[in-house]
Order: sequence, then C-alpha cells, then structure tokens
Amino acid sequence: MKNKKLKKKIPVGILGATGMVGQKFVELLINHPWFEIAALMASEKSVGKKYREAVTMWQGSEPIPSHVADMEVRACKPDINPVRGPRFKRDRNQRFLTSNGVNCKIVFSALDPIAAQEFEEDFAHAGYNVVSNARIHRMDDNVPLLVPEINPDHLELIKTQSYKGCIVTNPNCSTIGLVIALKPLLDNFGIEKVNVVTLQALSGAGYPGVASLDIVDNVIPFISGEEDKVENEPQKIFGSYAGSKIEYNDIAISAQCNRVGVRHGHLECVNLKLKQRVREKDIIHAWRTFSSEPQELNLPLAPQHPVYYFDNDYLPQPKYQRDFDKGMAVSIGRLQNKHVFDYKFVVLSHNLVRGAAGGAILNAELMVEKGYV
Ligand code: NAP
Repeated sequence: MKNKKLKKKIPVGILGATGMVGQKFVELLINHPWFEIAALMASEKSVGKKYREAVTMWQGSEPIPSHVADMEVRACKPDINPVRGPRFKRDRNQRFLTSNGVNCKIVFSALDPIAAQEFEEDFAHAGYNVVSNARIHRMDDNVPLLVPEINPDHLELIKTQSYKGCIVTNPNCSTIGLVIALKPLLDNFGIEKVNVVTLQALSGAGYPGVASLDIVDNVIPFISGEEDKVENEPQKIFGSYAGSKIEYNDIAISAQCNRVGVRHGHLECVNLKLKQRVREKDIIHAWRTFSSEPQELNLPLAPQHPVYYFDNDYLPQPKYQRDFDKGMAVSIGRLQNKHVFDYKFVVLSHNLVRGAAGGAILNAELMVEKGYV
C-alpha cells in the first residue's frame, strides 16, 4: 500500500499514555499525517480522569492540544470480539465507538513491563496491532524486534503469530543507537566483536525516575537488566529471516551501562574489532551514505539521514545533537584507530524519540506502508 493513497487517518491508541514514553507518543502523534489519537490508556489511578489531569508533569515543549487534553483516560482493556477483532459502532452523533471506547487499529505500548506482560497479548488476541516499547515480547521467536533501517524483512514473522492482531517490538533505547551505528560497518566490513560503555539519560528511567539526591554530583554504574539487553538484542536484529524464524547473528558484544545526569539522549562509547582492515575514511563514508527502506519509502518519521558523522572532537553531545533530524537520527563522532580494538567512536541517540516512541511510530509507518495494517 502506498502512503499517498491513505484517504483518512488511522485511529491509534496509546497504552501507558501518561508516562515519559507515552507523553512522547502523544507529542509525536498530534500532527502525524497518517495516525490520529483515538484512545489514551493507563493504570487504575489515571482511569476516568481527563488526560491533562492524569499526566503528573507534561514534558512536551508545546501545550497539549485541547482535543487530546480533554480525552478521558481509559483502562488497558481491549474490545473483545473473538471472531472479527475490534468492533466499531457509531453513536447518535455518528462518532465511531466501541464498547469501552478503545477504537483503534494500532495500539502503541509504553507500558511498564509488568503491565505490558498483563495487557499487550490481550490486545493482540483481540485483533489490535500492538507496537511495543516494552521488553516483554522482544525476544519471543515469532515477534519482530524491528528497526526499519536494519531488518524490515523481519516483519514477515507476523505471519507466524497466532494472534488476530499482532505484536511488533522495538529494541532497548541503548541498543537502537548502537545497532544503527554498527549496521553500515557490518554490511561493508563485517564485525567480530564490540565493547560498549553507555552513559544513559535520566528520562530513560521513566517518571519520576531516579531521585535527585542519587544523581546530582553522581554517576550510577548500574541499570537493572540493561547490559543483557544491549548484549543480546543486536544478534536478533542483525539476524537473517529464514522462512518463519530468525537465525541470530554471532557478533560478540560486551556492555557496561551507567546512568548520568542528562535529561534526554544516551551517549555510548564503542570499541570494535572488524573482520577486515579498513581505512578511517571508508568507515566515515559508510556512515554518511547509509540509507535504507524508510528513506526510500519516505516514511513520515524517517530521518533524512539515519547517521550523522561529526569531524569535531567535541561532538556529539546530548544537549546539542539529540534532536537532529526529528530526534530520529544517530550522531557519531570521535572515530579513532590506534588502540586495543581496531576502532573506537562515540554514538548518541535520543532515548525517548529514536529509542522509544519515534522508533515505534516508524515501525507502524512501515507496517502500514507494507500492508501489515
Ligand atoms: P513511566 O514513565 O514509568 O510510564 C509507565 C506507564 O505505564 C504510565 O503511563 C503508567 O500509567 C502505566 N502503567 C504502569 N502500571 C500500570 C498498570 N498496572 N496498568 C496500566 N498502566 C500502567 O515509564 P516510561 O519511561 O514511559 O517507559 C514505558 C515503557 O517503555 C517501559 O516498558 C520502558 O522499559 C520502555 N522504554 C522506555 C524508554 C525511555 O527512554 N524511558 C525507552 C525505551 C523503552 P499511570 O501514570 O496511570 O501510572
């Protein structure tokens, strides 16, 4: 399906709409050319409130538009129609309604992992297309762990799912910057092993996140579960789709993850050993010319360039580069070749945009464009 043929916007819902990632979904969807927000869902403490009241601290740079601010927050409960998926009815004013008001084809999940475990499959079974940020289903054999620039073909896994709808996930917010930086090097030169040290922003811990007394004047050298994700998710993302399953890539990755006092933007210091000897300028050329399916398809949230390389030794920095190209690009700098590994460099990506809500929206755009929705 070609996006230009979309006659009207696709109704979408947000699970966990009140949290850090949920708010970023709202911000990015407000003026989205294909999607319109039809349902906002969160925990019992928020249900029944207007969205503006349920959000403890709105993080967006613009006020919430009134048509969204006044929406009632609903429970994370799909409309269940065991035969045909979500059922759409009209009310007296000819507005579309479902029995509990969750009138949408796609639900973006920004749920806390425990809630994601409880609710995401309910929606998928009921016929919704669930596009999730949560870790729960990322490594399921039949669930795509999707980065549209890297493994768009993995969407075929949806056909092996037994849900009436489907579940598609995006990677951990540090994994995503790393894999986009590695992809052009993997394709052009091959990668043997990687060592990565992350410096992760506070918004990655949700709201209200880390107590100020713990992070001011401090760095915390541990983020629960994070190192495993950064070490294991890339092998699935870089894996090949082999007719109904993914054959994992075998790059060896070691990760150490730290929380630092930055609002948004994860910085990662990467060392790697390539499979062949390569000139520095060839690596930079591979990054600067990297382009893939989202760019070819001109998807609305696709960055014009997935990777920006900076020659300036002081860049990239979270404060200055995290919003590059709609917050969807990865910024790289400080490429050096003279140390224990072949090369080392620094990579930056926006954890809430490319690493969460923006990445999930790009996934959904690809699903629509390719006819999965
Ligand atoms: P957050 O700020 O803590 O938000 C959590 C959301 O989940 C809130 O909307 C909350 O609703 C809802 N929720 C919690 N328990 C619930 C329950 N029992 N039933 C229904 N809703 C419930 O967390 P976040 O940072 O936005 O992260 C959301 C998800 O995205 C997590 O799985 C996280 O690992 C993942 N992720 C986060 C980032 C990031 O940079 N922050 C990046 C990538 C992935 P209430 O407000 O009503 O409690």
